[in-house]
Parts: sequence; structure tokens; C-alpha cells
Amino acid sequence: MTLPTSDFAKARARMVGEQLIPRNIHDRATLAAMGTVPRHLFVEGAMQDQAYGDFPLPIGRGQTISQPYIVALMTQALNLKGHESVLEIGTGSGYQAAVLSRLCARVYTVERIDSLLVQARKVFDSLHYLNILTKLDDGTNGWPEHAPYDAIIVTAGGPQVPEPLLEQLADPGILVIPVGDRGMQDLRQVTKKEGKIVEKTIEYVRFVSLIGDHGWQNG
Ligand code: SAH
Repeated sequence: MTLPTSDFAKARARMVGEQLIPRNIHDRATLAAMGTVPRHLFVEGAMQDQAYGDFPLPIGRGQTISQPYIVALMTQALNLKGHESVLEIGTGSGYQAAVLSRLCARVYTVERIDSLLVQARKVFDSLHYLNILTKLDDGTNGWPEHAPYDAIIVTAGGPQVPEPLLEQLADPGILVIPVGDRGMQDLRQVTKKEGKIVEKTIEYVRFVSLIGDHGWQNG
């Protein structure tokens, strides 16, 4: 069942008020972007009425769109001001990239599964989100042509921080990534400043696997 547009807008406002603000998502720009981007368009028609619920949803090919709180937490942790160039690994539905695109100059997003990328691109086009560039590839090698990036976000969990991503991170720069085993990960905020790397765990999370040269070896 598809709800009228106004019901989606109400559900989105409730999501911000009930799931994000009480959990210490305080960055105004992040809250505004979460309150604007139509999350329901990034999931299949039959699931659209659940799109603003407090949980992840399947997007096909064994992958998921993250829970709204996790998208907001990762976005806030990047501390974006508007001028940045941001690299995302794991486009999936495209929702996280869409949120980021409202908060920075340009988003470069890499996905390894073609059908997901094709669908995400359709949604970006329909929304006229023109500052998102996509690439089909193993994102654990980054996207060297457009480096360095002021911020990098990895939305799949790997065994370690991929070295190419650290290299492609600007100084100063912030990288947010889930690191751990296949079941559970620490969500780490890695900052590079004056050549020094500092890591901080900001949450415990459960992401799908980051698969590639600098991730897990198979699906
Ligand atoms: N940011 C997405 C979350 C998708 S789930 C969203 O908002 O919907 C994580 C995604 O990472 C999956 O689509 C998976 O295919 C992708 N992925 C896993 N390993 C990858 C790699 N090495 N390079 C690029 N994408 C990868």
C-alpha cells in the first residue's frame, strides 16, 4: 500500500522527533537533511509505509538500508559544513549518499553490485540530486582520481580500516567506518590532523560485510 505524500512527510517529521533528537543527534544540518530526503523512495514500493520505522530494511541482493538513527549518527560524525568533497563506500539504496549530498559540495559513491547502483542512480536522477557521482567498483581501493576527500564514510563492515582510504583522506579529514567481525562492529570515527591519526569508537553496530581487496574475501 502506498501512502499519500503528506503522510510520508508526517512520518519523516516523527522519525526526526522520536528517533533522532532523543538519541543526541543535535547537528542542525543533519536533522534538516534527515527531515527532507524522502527515505521511502529508496525502498521498494511494498515497503514504503515502513520506511520511516526505527529499523533497517532489506534492499535486495542480501543488503540493507541502515536504520535512520545510524545514518544520522554517521552523518553527524563527519562534521560537514557544506564545502566538502565526500567519498562513500557502499551506495546500496543510495539513501545515505542522498542525505550527504544535502550537506556538502559533492558526493562520490562506490558500489560493487551493479543492480543496486542502477536503481540508486534512478532515484538520484528523479530527485535532481545532481552532485552525486557514482562508480561500480570495489570501494576498498577508494576512488583515487578524485582524492583527497575531506570526509569518507564506509557503510559496510570490514575487518580493518582499508589502507587506501586512509591515504585518500585529506588532512584534516574524518573517516567513519564500522570495523570488527562479520556479526558485530565498532563504529569508528578516524580523524587525520597534522599527519596524526586518532580513532574513537562512537557506537556498536551490525552492518553487512565490506567485501573486497581490503575487506572480507567473499560474500
Ligand atoms: N549506504 C547504503 C547502505 C547499503 S548496505 C544505504 O544507504 O542504503 C552496504 C552496501 O555496501 C551494499 O550495497 C554492498 O553491496 C556494498 N559493498 C560491500 N562491499 C563493498 C565494496 N568493497 N565496495 C563497494 N560497495 C561495497
